[in-house]
Amino acid sequence: MRPFEYCAPSTVTEALSLLREYGDRARPLAGGTDLLIFMQSGRVQPDYVVDLTRIAALKGIAYDPAQGLKLGALTSMREVELAPAIRAHYPALAASTFELAGVQVRNMATIGGNTCNASPAADTIPPLMALDAVAVIAGTTGERRVPYTELFQGPGKTALKRDELLASIDLPPPSSRTGSHYIKLAVRKAMDIAIVGVAASVTLDDGLVQDCRIALGAVGPTVIRAHEAEQLLRGKPLEDATLKAVAKAAQAAAKPITDQRGSAAYRTMMVGVLVPQALRQAAMAAQRTE
Ligand SMILES: Cc1cc2nc3c(=O)[nH]c(=O)nc-3n(C[C@H](O)[C@H](O)[C@H](O)COP(=O)(O)OP(=O)(O)OC[C@H]3O[C@@H](n4cnc5c(N)ncnc54)[C@H](O)[C@@H]3O)c2cc1C
Repeated sequence: MRPFEYCAPSTVTEALSLLREYGDRARPLAGGTDLLIFMQSGRVQPDYVVDLTRIAALKGIAYDPAQGLKLGALTSMREVELAPAIRAHYPALAASTFELAGVQVRNMATIGGNTCNASPAADTIPPLMALDAVAVIAGTTGERRVPYTELFQGPGKTALKRDELLASIDLPPPSSRTGSHYIKLAVRKAMDIAIVGVAASVTLDDGLVQDCRIALGAVGPTVIRAHEAEQLLRGKPLEDATLKAVAKAAQAAAKPITDQRGSAAYRTMMVGVLVPQALRQAAMAAQRTE
């Protein structure tokens, strides 16, 4: 690994001023489970590493039934996985952390690092998108809020500038009769990257789908919202014929590649299988909240 200067700020202001001073030569460090691997392989070679782990303001989980959920960017995956409020009200997010790597990695890896690494196969991005999450981004001139649907610009690329930090992730309060679910298709049950990831959120009203959101992972350069598929389901009952049309529209939204994990054709086929499954599971979770 190439030598670098290590900085350990204890406040967001201090971290931001280091990022501003060093620009493209610096990289923020959270759990290091992506960054250190990239540094070891030479793919990323920063002159300055700005360690965020001593900044208390970036950590923690706050849930309020009226305000929703605020996740500090430096919160570990394991903390997210075990938080009772997340398991109860945002089950797709809890499921995605449980599916990520193994316990040792989840103790180090942070929810914010998963977002900022911006892998199209990242496990927590589809549920965050399906749950209507907003990224709270801190910069030297203040904070700005970017919805997850607008945050990703390509593999490894987000809307964050070099002198900005992801401070927290905000999720709206759970509406009544709403449930969510995440399905990860991978070869192994643990320590494997998704071939396809599907997250769905469903709100029911008198037997009809009042609202829904579908997010697809590992089938495009970024995680994708399947807006047209969602539109086909709104106002309809969750029936086989409708789900078939929804699955087809989700397949049309997917733009997968062929790689060592699966062919583009297999990925597209599995989107058609997993989208109806995720929607049905989300609807079952919604019924449990009634
Ligand atoms: C063995 C192994 C298995 C894995 N399995 C999975 C898996 O199944 N699913 C999956 O999705 N991922 C997996 N990963 C990838 C990784 O664990 C996750 O992406 C993790 O969430 C990254 O978080 P981190 O805190 O370690 O980020 P880091 O490695 O510290 O940072 C990642 C990137 O984000 C930037 N960054 C971090 N925090 C911030 C911030 N607050 N503001 C601005 N930029 C920031 C860093 O500069 C860096 O570019 C695996 C990794 C390993 C080593």
